[in-house]
Amino acid sequence: MPDQPTTPHIFSPSAIKVYSECPIKYELMYLDQWYSRQADRPFWGRVAGSAFAEGSAILNSPENFMTAVPECNLQLKIDLAIKAALKSITDDIDPFMKAGGILDRTDLENVKRDVAQALTKYANNSPFADWKEILHVEYGLGTLYGNCRLDVIGRDRHNVLSFADIKFKRYLDTQYVDKTVEEYRWDWQFLHYQWAMEKYFNEPVNAYLCLVRLKSAWQAQLFEFTYNAALIHSVGLSVGRYSEDMGHAIERGTALGTTHDTKFGPCAYKEACLKLQWNEDLMKQNYIQLPPRGK
Ligand code: SF4
Repeated sequence: MPDQPTTPHIFSPSAIKVYSECPIKYELMYLDQWYSRQADRPFWGRVAGSAFAEGSAILNSPENFMTAVPECNLQLKIDLAIKAALKSITDDIDPFMKAGGILDRTDLENVKRDVAQALTKYANNSPFADWKEILHVEYGLGTLYGNCRLDVIGRDRHNVLSFADIKFKRYLDTQYVDKTVEEYRWDWQFLHYQWAMEKYFNEPVNAYLCLVRLKSAWQAQLFEFTYNAALIHSVGLSVGRYSEDMGHAIERGTALGTTHDTKFGPCAYKEACLKLQWNEDLMKQNYIQLPPRGK
């Protein structure tokens, strides 16, 4: 009798997405933790996104602040949110600098200013105001579902169990909003979240993008995404298949990506792969290795 099949380790939505783009990129980014030495646009995007997530989790929290913080008021919540966001920025910047990263101090101050400004506006314009209930913020579904971490879980205005993923953009021109929303609607992360949420809670789930942008105009808005059951079933099969492959990524050997440029510009590892062939001594001129966040 053959061995019972074992459930493969399920990888996170972001790791699967990177692996599907290029297995080498997954190894460099997730296994070896190589990053550009110079703080670039994607770096600041990640730093600002994480900081806004930490701050907005406090503002969205279902906990009773009257209990947690006596004589609480909106300004106190905003202050706590900004404090959490600034700590998140420090938690990202400190290991980056320690590893030899290079950044422009003006960029750092601009990120801090923009995140604080956006959290203040967000606190006064909550896009969740018409939800019946917020149940959880920053809620992890665990390893069986790829460690999905949902920004907000609650009951929407239709009283249906729902999740929302918050995307913070310091700058997104109004003319690109519709295109950006459509990209997120079919993005792997949202499909994976929908699959994981339905499995975890075993009931129908509504999905929302919470788009927050500071410039060129302020916007904090929910966009509802609807997916058909057959698609989400396929997503579940794909999660298993990718995870199985990724568990054997190293032993299966080199698999270069076939395209080294994205719509945002060249892949950050272009020099490491195509010119340096992953020679670590040479890579150290332009790349650093970072410990996982929080270590
Ligand atoms: S440069 Fe090409 S091969 Fe290297 S990580 Fe990027 S996409 Fe993959």
